[in-house]
Amino acid sequence: MTSAWLSLGANLENPRTQLKHAATFLNDHINIEVIAHSDVLKNPAWGKTDQPDFHNIALEIKTPLSPVELLDACQSIENKMGRVRREKWGPRLIDIDIVAYDRIIMQTPRLTLPHPFAHERDFVLEPLSEISPETKIWICQLAGN
Ligand code: AMP
Repeated sequence: MTSAWLSLGANLENPRTQLKHAATFLNDHINIEVIAHSDVLKNPAWGKTDQPDFHNIALEIKTPLSPVELLDACQSIENKMGRVRREKWGPRLIDIDIVAYDRIIMQTPRLTLPHPFAHERDFVLEPLSEISPETKIWICQLAGN
């Protein structure tokens, strides 16, 4: 079993409820156990301001899945919840990103770990530091921050 940290965001159709549903779907997955979650943080939208505020949480999970299998699981939950991919930075029902998977560093066309923008996004770092300050520090040190 490996520890991984996820960042969840939502800004449509009662975002708090969407985050709760996503956490439940994740924990119901046979190979994912949710160990901890942060408080919900409300943030103005990043990159595109004319849309509702985002709500974000961080989750710590334990999983026997590989990083890519975990990404598949997260994306299938996004799809099951009805996420439609629209424009970049646009509003979203649910977004599930892998912030870090153990201390693995990898860069492939499908998956970059830790998440390539985590170190520059307070809406990722702040919830993460609530549940795993050492992972936040590791990510920031790695990015040279
Ligand atoms: P998004 O629109 O934020 O859900 O971005 C999803 C895309 O980013 C997918 O095509 C993933 O393959 C890619 N991606 C790369 N690294 C990660 C990561 N650490 N977590 C989630 N998605 C990632």
